[in-house]
Amino acid sequence: MRRPLIAGNWKMNGSKAEATQLLNGIKAGVAGMQRVDVAVCPSFPYLYLAEELLADSAIAWGAQDVSAQAGGAYTGQVSAAMLKDFACRYAIVGHSERRQLNGEDDALVASKYARAVAGGIVPILCIGETLEERESGRTEEVVARHIDAVLNSSGVEAFGAGIVAYEPVWAIGTGVTATPDQAQEVHAFVRGRIASKNQEIAAGLRLLYGGSMKPGNAVELIAQPDIDGGLIGGASLKAADFVAICQAGEDSA
Ligand code: PEP
Repeated sequence: MRRPLIAGNWKMNGSKAEATQLLNGIKAGVAGMQRVDVAVCPSFPYLYLAEELLADSAIAWGAQDVSAQAGGAYTGQVSAAMLKDFACRYAIVGHSERRQLNGEDDALVASKYARAVAGGIVPILCIGETLEERESGRTEEVVARHIDAVLNSSGVEAFGAGIVAYEPVWAIGTGVTATPDQAQEVHAFVRGRIASKNQEIAAGLRLLYGGSMKPGNAVELIAQPDIDGGLIGGASLKAADFVAICQAGEDSA
């Protein structure tokens, strides 16, 4: 049985005071939940706050990126070992905003994934097609390419140590959500692709949906057989909304 995971991607938002308030609000809101895993991914400077405020809770924290390098002369980058130092459990890799705005290609994303796993951090690999790719019938081709980059460089075993988030680019921050059927179709395709290499790893792999998930659509999305939770952007910045999505995860288990 795969435990649902609800992870918040705060992106580049908030201040020290707002992060403190949000962390405390989420902590109070999910305190009684038993069957869902909850994680928050603030910006790097606020990870220490997560460690300070959440250490006595069941909530995990993670980073929004990790370097593909172990350490050294890489100005501005943050290594898996540094994240580990702040007790991070997760690191998002290959978010579409980084692919599009920072020019990250599949090879770099696969290196980041491998570096996270080697450093004891669980990578959350983001995959997904643009609107143009969907409309031209290339959704499966694109997500297969994103998955295969990791499969080919690290082997299927790497998916035993990570999480995949299907995030159609056209649904991120747009208010347009994939329908449960659209999301389930892609999730089933991804799980099938991993299963063709190793059925056991595929059966245990947590596949999150991301893209305008909100309290109003979370229940239906998470109810899909291959959707094991969500990666939440905008709605993770309001404690009440994020807690409501966590409750949907709790109730689905
Ligand atoms: C994201 O950026 O990971 C995301 C899912 O954003 P939103 O929920 O705002 O669409």
